[in-house]
Amino acid sequence: MIIVLQPGATEENIRHILEKTEAMGLRANVSRGAERTVIGLIGPEDKLQVVPLEVFPGVERVMPVLAPYKLVSREFKGTGSVVKVGSAASGLAEAGGKRLVVMAGPCAIEGYDMLLAIAKKVKAAGANMLRGGAFKPRTSPYDFQGMGEEGLKILQAVGKEAGIATVTEVMDPRDVELVARYADMFQIGARNMQNFSLLREVGKARKSVLLKRGISSTIKEWLMSAEYILAQGNYDVVLCERGIRTFETETRNTLDINAIPVVKQKSHLPIIVDPSHGTGKSSLVGSIAKAGVAAGADGVLIEVHESPEDAWSDGAQCLTGAQFKNLMQELAAVANAVGREI
Ligand code: PEP
Ligand code: MN
Repeated sequence: MIIVLQPGATEENIRHILEKTEAMGLRANVSRGAERTVIGLIGPEDKLQVVPLEVFPGVERVMPVLAPYKLVSREFKGTGSVVKVGSAASGLAEAGGKRLVVMAGPCAIEGYDMLLAIAKKVKAAGANMLRGGAFKPRTSPYDFQGMGEEGLKILQAVGKEAGIATVTEVMDPRDVELVARYADMFQIGARNMQNFSLLREVGKARKSVLLKRGISSTIKEWLMSAEYILAQGNYDVVLCERGIRTFETETRNTLDINAIPVVKQKSHLPIIVDPSHGTGKSSLVGSIAKAGVAAGADGVLIEVHESPEDAWSDGAQCLTGAQFKNLMQELAAVANAVGREI
Protein backbone atom coordinates (compact mmCIF):
# COMPACT_ATOMS: atom_id res chain seq x y z
CA MET A 1 0.00 0.00 0.00
CA ILE A 2 1.33 3.43 -0.91
CA ILE A 3 0.04 6.57 0.77
CA VAL A 4 0.66 9.89 -0.97
CA LEU A 5 0.37 12.83 1.41
CA GLN A 6 -1.02 16.27 0.61
CA PRO A 7 1.57 19.03 -0.04
CA GLY A 8 0.80 20.62 3.35
CA ALA A 9 0.84 17.43 5.44
CA THR A 10 2.42 17.99 8.84
CA GLU A 11 4.80 15.88 10.93
CA GLU A 12 1.87 15.34 13.30
CA ASN A 13 -0.20 13.90 10.40
CA ILE A 14 2.65 11.52 9.52
CA ARG A 15 3.10 10.44 13.17
CA HIS A 16 -0.62 9.68 13.44
CA ILE A 17 -0.58 7.47 10.31
CA LEU A 18 2.54 5.63 11.48
CA GLU A 19 1.10 4.98 14.95
CA LYS A 20 -2.09 3.57 13.50
CA THR A 21 -0.48 1.36 10.84
CA GLU A 22 2.40 0.10 13.00
CA ALA A 23 -0.13 -0.92 15.65
CA MET A 24 -1.60 -3.16 12.94
CA GLY A 25 1.74 -4.92 12.46
CA LEU A 26 2.70 -3.13 9.24
CA ARG A 27 6.15 -1.72 8.57
CA ALA A 28 6.25 1.82 7.22
CA ASN A 29 8.80 3.45 5.01
CA VAL A 30 8.59 7.26 4.88
CA SER A 31 10.09 8.97 1.87
CA ARG A 32 10.26 12.78 2.12
CA GLY A 33 10.52 14.46 -1.29
CA ALA A 34 10.86 18.17 -2.09
CA GLU A 35 7.15 18.39 -3.00
CA ARG A 36 5.51 15.40 -1.39
CA THR A 37 5.95 12.80 1.29
CA VAL A 38 5.05 9.22 0.44
CA ILE A 39 4.57 6.39 2.93
CA GLY A 40 5.07 2.83 1.77
CA LEU A 41 3.47 0.16 3.96
CA ILE A 42 4.80 -3.38 4.02
CA GLY A 43 2.66 -6.20 5.38
CA PRO A 44 -0.67 -7.87 4.70
CA GLU A 45 -2.80 -5.43 2.71
CA ASP A 46 -6.04 -7.09 3.70
CA LYS A 47 -5.60 -5.67 7.22
CA LEU A 48 -5.68 -2.21 5.70
CA GLN A 49 -8.87 -2.75 3.75
CA VAL A 50 -10.89 -2.14 6.90
CA VAL A 51 -9.13 1.17 7.67
CA PRO A 52 -10.28 4.10 5.52
CA LEU A 53 -6.81 5.67 5.23
CA GLU A 54 -8.17 8.24 2.76
CA VAL A 55 -9.89 10.09 5.61
CA PHE A 56 -6.77 10.49 7.74
CA PRO A 57 -5.64 14.13 7.97
CA GLY A 58 -2.91 14.94 5.45
CA VAL A 59 -3.66 12.00 3.11
CA GLU A 60 -4.22 12.75 -0.56
CA ARG A 61 -4.33 9.29 -2.16
CA VAL A 62 -4.05 5.65 -1.19
CA MET A 63 -2.84 3.15 -3.79
CA PRO A 64 -3.02 -0.59 -3.21
CA VAL A 65 -0.05 -2.48 -4.64
CA LEU A 66 -1.69 -5.89 -4.74
CA ALA A 67 -4.84 -6.84 -6.62
CA PRO A 68 -7.88 -7.30 -4.36
CA TYR A 69 -8.44 -10.81 -5.73
CA LYS A 70 -6.17 -13.60 -4.53
CA LEU A 71 -7.22 -17.11 -5.60
CA VAL A 72 -7.92 -16.14 -9.22
CA SER A 73 -4.62 -14.25 -9.61
CA ARG A 74 -1.50 -15.27 -11.51
CA GLU A 75 0.47 -14.64 -8.32
CA PHE A 76 -1.51 -17.40 -6.64
CA LYS A 77 -1.02 -19.83 -9.54
CA GLY A 78 1.56 -19.11 -12.21
CA THR A 79 0.40 -21.62 -14.82
CA GLY A 80 -2.91 -21.45 -16.66
CA SER A 81 -5.67 -23.66 -15.27
CA VAL A 82 -7.33 -26.33 -17.34
CA VAL A 83 -11.00 -26.81 -16.46
CA LYS A 84 -12.53 -30.19 -17.25
CA VAL A 85 -16.24 -30.40 -18.02
CA GLY A 86 -18.53 -33.43 -18.36
CA SER A 87 -17.58 -37.08 -18.18
CA ALA A 88 -16.16 -39.72 -20.46
CA ALA A 89 -19.64 -41.29 -20.63
CA SER A 90 -21.51 -38.19 -21.81
CA GLY A 91 -18.71 -36.28 -23.53
CA LEU A 92 -15.70 -34.55 -22.06
CA ALA A 93 -14.45 -31.04 -22.77
CA GLU A 94 -11.51 -29.04 -21.49
CA ALA A 95 -11.03 -25.29 -21.33
CA GLY A 96 -7.49 -23.95 -21.09
CA GLY A 97 -5.66 -26.76 -22.88
CA LYS A 98 -4.17 -26.71 -26.38
CA ARG A 99 -7.51 -27.63 -27.90
CA LEU A 100 -10.07 -24.82 -27.90
CA VAL A 101 -13.36 -25.34 -26.13
CA VAL A 102 -16.22 -24.69 -28.55
CA MET A 103 -19.65 -24.25 -26.97
CA ALA A 104 -22.46 -24.08 -29.50
CA GLY A 105 -26.22 -24.35 -29.56
CA PRO A 106 -29.40 -22.31 -29.51
CA CYS A 107 -30.02 -19.36 -27.24
CA ALA A 108 -33.02 -21.17 -25.77
CA ILE A 109 -33.99 -24.84 -25.70
CA GLU A 110 -37.18 -25.06 -27.76
CA GLY A 111 -37.74 -28.82 -27.85
CA TYR A 112 -36.03 -32.22 -28.05
CA ASP A 113 -35.93 -32.67 -31.82
CA MET A 114 -34.58 -29.21 -32.57
CA LEU A 115 -31.89 -29.52 -29.90
CA LEU A 116 -30.80 -32.98 -30.98
CA ALA A 117 -30.54 -31.88 -34.60
CA ILE A 118 -28.37 -28.89 -33.61
CA ALA A 119 -26.27 -30.99 -31.20
CA LYS A 120 -25.41 -33.50 -33.92
CA LYS A 121 -24.55 -30.77 -36.42
CA VAL A 122 -22.36 -28.69 -34.12
CA LYS A 123 -20.57 -31.76 -32.78
CA ALA A 124 -19.81 -32.99 -36.29
CA ALA A 125 -18.47 -29.54 -37.15
CA GLY A 126 -16.07 -29.48 -34.17
CA ALA A 127 -18.00 -28.25 -31.11
CA ASN A 128 -17.20 -30.04 -27.86
CA MET A 129 -19.97 -28.53 -25.74
CA LEU A 130 -23.68 -27.99 -26.29
CA ARG A 131 -25.28 -24.82 -24.95
CA GLY A 132 -28.95 -23.99 -24.54
CA GLY A 133 -30.92 -21.91 -22.06
CA ALA A 134 -33.78 -23.31 -19.98
CA PHE A 135 -33.98 -20.22 -17.76
CA LYS A 136 -33.74 -17.11 -19.92
CA PRO A 137 -32.94 -13.65 -18.50
CA ARG A 138 -35.26 -11.53 -20.67
CA THR A 139 -35.50 -7.75 -20.48
CA SER A 140 -39.29 -7.96 -20.72
CA PRO A 141 -41.27 -10.14 -18.30
CA TYR A 142 -43.71 -10.82 -21.18
CA ASP A 143 -41.07 -12.44 -23.40
CA PHE A 144 -40.46 -16.21 -23.45
CA GLN A 145 -38.72 -17.06 -20.18
CA GLY A 146 -37.39 -20.50 -21.08
CA MET A 147 -38.75 -24.04 -20.70
CA GLY A 148 -37.50 -24.43 -17.13
CA GLU A 149 -37.04 -27.97 -15.79
CA GLU A 150 -38.59 -29.51 -18.89
CA GLY A 151 -35.86 -27.79 -20.91
CA LEU A 152 -33.17 -29.10 -18.55
CA LYS A 153 -34.45 -32.65 -19.05
CA ILE A 154 -34.24 -32.18 -22.81
CA LEU A 155 -30.71 -30.80 -22.52
CA GLN A 156 -29.55 -33.77 -20.48
CA ALA A 157 -31.20 -36.32 -22.76
CA VAL A 158 -29.76 -34.69 -25.89
CA GLY A 159 -26.29 -34.39 -24.32
CA LYS A 160 -26.32 -38.13 -23.60
CA GLU A 161 -27.75 -39.08 -26.97
CA ALA A 162 -25.26 -36.95 -28.91
CA GLY A 163 -22.34 -37.61 -26.51
CA ILE A 164 -21.56 -33.96 -25.81
CA ALA A 165 -21.04 -32.05 -22.54
CA THR A 166 -23.66 -29.40 -21.72
CA VAL A 167 -23.79 -25.88 -20.29
CA THR A 168 -26.88 -23.92 -19.28
CA GLU A 169 -27.68 -20.77 -17.34
CA VAL A 170 -28.74 -20.75 -13.70
CA MET A 171 -30.38 -17.50 -12.64
CA ASP A 172 -31.61 -18.17 -9.12
CA PRO A 173 -29.67 -19.54 -6.13
CA ARG A 174 -32.70 -21.74 -5.39
CA ASP A 175 -32.25 -23.48 -8.77
CA VAL A 176 -28.58 -24.41 -8.38
CA GLU A 177 -29.30 -27.95 -7.18
CA LEU A 178 -31.89 -28.46 -9.89
CA VAL A 179 -29.58 -27.31 -12.71
CA ALA A 180 -26.69 -29.35 -11.26
CA ARG A 181 -28.81 -32.49 -11.62
CA TYR A 182 -29.14 -32.05 -15.39
CA ALA A 183 -26.18 -30.07 -16.80
CA ASP A 184 -22.40 -30.49 -16.83
CA MET A 185 -21.60 -26.81 -16.37
CA PHE A 186 -23.40 -23.80 -14.88
CA GLN A 187 -23.55 -20.56 -16.83
CA ILE A 188 -23.76 -17.36 -14.81
CA GLY A 189 -25.17 -14.77 -17.20
CA ALA A 190 -23.97 -11.21 -17.64
CA ARG A 191 -26.92 -9.82 -15.67
CA ASN A 192 -26.08 -11.99 -12.68
CA MET A 193 -22.31 -11.50 -12.58
CA GLN A 194 -22.68 -9.63 -9.31
CA ASN A 195 -25.45 -11.74 -7.81
CA PHE A 196 -23.25 -12.68 -4.87
CA SER A 197 -25.66 -15.20 -3.32
CA LEU A 198 -25.78 -17.03 -6.66
CA LEU A 199 -21.97 -16.93 -6.96
CA ARG A 200 -21.60 -18.40 -3.45
CA GLU A 201 -24.13 -21.11 -4.23
CA VAL A 202 -22.37 -22.30 -7.43
CA GLY A 203 -19.11 -22.01 -5.50
CA LYS A 204 -20.40 -24.63 -3.08
CA ALA A 205 -21.53 -26.96 -5.87
CA ARG A 206 -18.88 -29.29 -7.26
CA LYS A 207 -19.46 -28.49 -10.90
CA SER A 208 -17.69 -26.15 -13.32
CA VAL A 209 -18.92 -22.60 -13.89
CA LEU A 210 -18.92 -20.37 -16.97
CA LEU A 211 -18.86 -16.83 -15.61
CA LYS A 212 -19.92 -14.21 -18.13
CA ARG A 213 -18.70 -10.64 -17.81
CA GLY A 214 -21.32 -8.15 -16.58
CA ILE A 215 -22.71 -5.70 -19.10
CA SER A 216 -21.02 -2.72 -17.41
CA SER A 217 -18.38 -4.45 -15.32
CA THR A 218 -14.69 -3.76 -15.20
CA ILE A 219 -12.23 -6.61 -15.51
CA LYS A 220 -11.39 -6.16 -11.82
CA GLU A 221 -15.06 -6.52 -10.80
CA TRP A 222 -15.35 -9.60 -13.00
CA LEU A 223 -12.31 -11.22 -11.39
CA MET A 224 -13.69 -10.32 -7.95
CA SER A 225 -16.88 -12.18 -8.88
CA ALA A 226 -14.81 -15.21 -9.90
CA GLU A 227 -13.05 -14.91 -6.53
CA TYR A 228 -16.44 -15.42 -4.81
CA ILE A 229 -16.73 -18.81 -6.51
CA LEU A 230 -13.15 -19.92 -5.83
CA ALA A 231 -13.41 -18.73 -2.23
CA GLN A 232 -16.11 -21.38 -1.71
CA GLY A 233 -13.72 -24.08 -2.90
CA ASN A 234 -14.82 -24.37 -6.54
CA TYR A 235 -11.76 -23.69 -8.74
CA ASP A 236 -13.37 -24.87 -11.99
CA VAL A 237 -14.27 -21.45 -13.37
CA VAL A 238 -14.07 -20.35 -17.01
CA LEU A 239 -14.49 -16.66 -17.82
CA CYS A 240 -16.50 -15.50 -20.83
CA GLU A 241 -16.10 -12.09 -22.47
CA ARG A 242 -19.52 -11.39 -24.05
CA GLY A 243 -19.23 -7.71 -24.80
CA ILE A 244 -19.81 -4.66 -22.68
CA ARG A 245 -22.15 -1.71 -23.10
CA THR A 246 -20.54 1.30 -24.75
CA PHE A 247 -21.80 4.39 -26.61
CA GLU A 248 -21.68 2.41 -29.90
CA THR A 249 -25.09 1.46 -31.28
CA GLU A 250 -24.13 -0.41 -34.48
CA THR A 251 -23.65 -3.58 -32.47
CA ARG A 252 -25.59 -5.03 -29.52
CA ASN A 253 -22.48 -4.81 -27.32
CA THR A 254 -18.79 -4.09 -27.81
CA LEU A 255 -16.71 -7.22 -27.41
CA ASP A 256 -13.64 -6.17 -25.44
CA ILE A 257 -10.76 -7.97 -27.15
CA ASN A 258 -8.36 -6.23 -24.72
CA ALA A 259 -9.91 -8.23 -21.91
CA ILE A 260 -8.40 -11.47 -23.24
CA PRO A 261 -4.68 -10.63 -22.85
CA VAL A 262 -5.43 -8.57 -19.74
CA VAL A 263 -7.15 -11.53 -18.05
CA LYS A 264 -4.32 -13.82 -19.20
CA GLN A 265 -1.81 -11.54 -17.47
CA LYS A 266 -3.79 -11.18 -14.27
CA SER A 267 -5.43 -14.57 -13.83
CA HIS A 268 -4.77 -18.28 -14.35
CA LEU A 269 -8.43 -18.95 -15.27
CA PRO A 270 -9.33 -19.87 -18.88
CA ILE A 271 -11.20 -17.22 -20.86
CA ILE A 272 -13.47 -17.69 -23.88
CA VAL A 273 -15.31 -15.20 -26.11
CA ASP A 274 -18.98 -15.01 -27.02
CA PRO A 275 -19.18 -13.15 -30.35
CA SER A 276 -22.93 -13.87 -30.61
CA HIS A 277 -23.95 -11.66 -27.69
CA GLY A 278 -20.83 -9.52 -28.28
CA THR A 279 -22.10 -8.34 -31.66
CA GLY A 280 -25.81 -9.27 -31.81
CA LYS A 281 -25.51 -9.80 -35.58
CA SER A 282 -24.88 -13.13 -37.28
CA SER A 283 -22.90 -11.43 -40.09
CA LEU A 284 -20.30 -10.23 -37.55
CA VAL A 285 -19.98 -13.38 -35.44
CA GLY A 286 -17.26 -15.05 -37.55
CA SER A 287 -14.90 -12.07 -37.62
CA ILE A 288 -15.07 -11.54 -33.90
CA ALA A 289 -14.76 -15.25 -33.10
CA LYS A 290 -11.54 -15.32 -35.14
CA ALA A 291 -10.28 -12.12 -33.50
CA GLY A 292 -10.90 -13.64 -30.07
CA VAL A 293 -8.98 -16.81 -30.85
CA ALA A 294 -6.14 -14.82 -32.43
CA ALA A 295 -5.94 -12.74 -29.25
CA GLY A 296 -5.47 -15.86 -27.13
CA ALA A 297 -8.97 -16.90 -26.06
CA ASP A 298 -9.28 -20.51 -24.92
CA GLY A 299 -12.49 -21.01 -26.84
CA VAL A 300 -15.72 -19.58 -28.18
CA LEU A 301 -19.43 -19.68 -27.41
CA ILE A 302 -21.62 -19.45 -30.50
CA GLU A 303 -25.38 -19.44 -30.83
CA VAL A 304 -26.64 -21.79 -33.54
CA HIS A 305 -30.20 -22.32 -34.73
CA GLU A 306 -31.44 -24.21 -37.77
CA SER A 307 -33.93 -21.50 -38.61
CA PRO A 308 -32.77 -18.21 -37.04
CA GLU A 309 -35.89 -16.39 -38.26
CA ASP A 310 -38.06 -18.70 -36.15
CA ALA A 311 -35.84 -18.71 -33.05
CA TRP A 312 -37.65 -18.01 -29.78
CA SER A 313 -34.82 -15.69 -28.71
CA ASP A 314 -31.71 -14.05 -30.18
CA GLY A 315 -32.45 -15.15 -33.76
CA ALA A 316 -30.59 -12.14 -35.21
CA GLN A 317 -27.27 -13.39 -33.89
CA CYS A 318 -27.67 -17.14 -34.52
CA LEU A 319 -25.64 -18.95 -37.18
CA THR A 320 -27.20 -21.82 -39.08
CA GLY A 321 -25.54 -25.24 -38.86
CA ALA A 322 -23.96 -24.70 -42.27
CA GLN A 323 -22.60 -21.26 -41.33
CA PHE A 324 -21.23 -22.72 -38.11
CA LYS A 325 -19.46 -25.48 -40.03
CA ASN A 326 -17.78 -22.93 -42.31
CA LEU A 327 -16.72 -20.85 -39.35
CA MET A 328 -15.15 -23.88 -37.65
CA GLN A 329 -12.99 -24.45 -40.70
CA GLU A 330 -11.79 -20.83 -40.72
CA LEU A 331 -11.32 -20.87 -36.97
CA ALA A 332 -9.14 -23.97 -37.18
CA ALA A 333 -6.69 -22.06 -39.40
CA VAL A 334 -6.54 -19.16 -36.93
CA ALA A 335 -6.14 -21.60 -34.04
CA ASN A 336 -3.20 -23.29 -35.79
CA ALA A 337 -1.57 -19.94 -36.42
CA VAL A 338 -1.51 -19.22 -32.67
CA GLY A 339 -0.45 -22.70 -31.59
CA ARG A 340 -3.91 -24.02 -30.74
CA GLU A 341 -6.25 -26.53 -32.32
CA ILE A 342 -9.95 -27.28 -32.67
C1 PEP B 1 -27.09 -16.32 -23.25
O1 PEP B 1 -26.00 -16.92 -23.21
O2 PEP B 1 -28.06 -16.68 -23.94
C2 PEP B 1 -27.22 -15.05 -22.50
C3 PEP B 1 -28.40 -14.59 -22.10
O3 PEP B 1 -26.05 -14.46 -22.32
P1 PEP B 1 -25.63 -13.07 -21.57
O4 PEP B 1 -25.83 -13.34 -20.11
O5 PEP B 1 -24.18 -12.92 -21.95
O6 PEP B 1 -26.51 -11.99 -22.10
MN1 MN C 1 -28.79 -15.62 -26.18
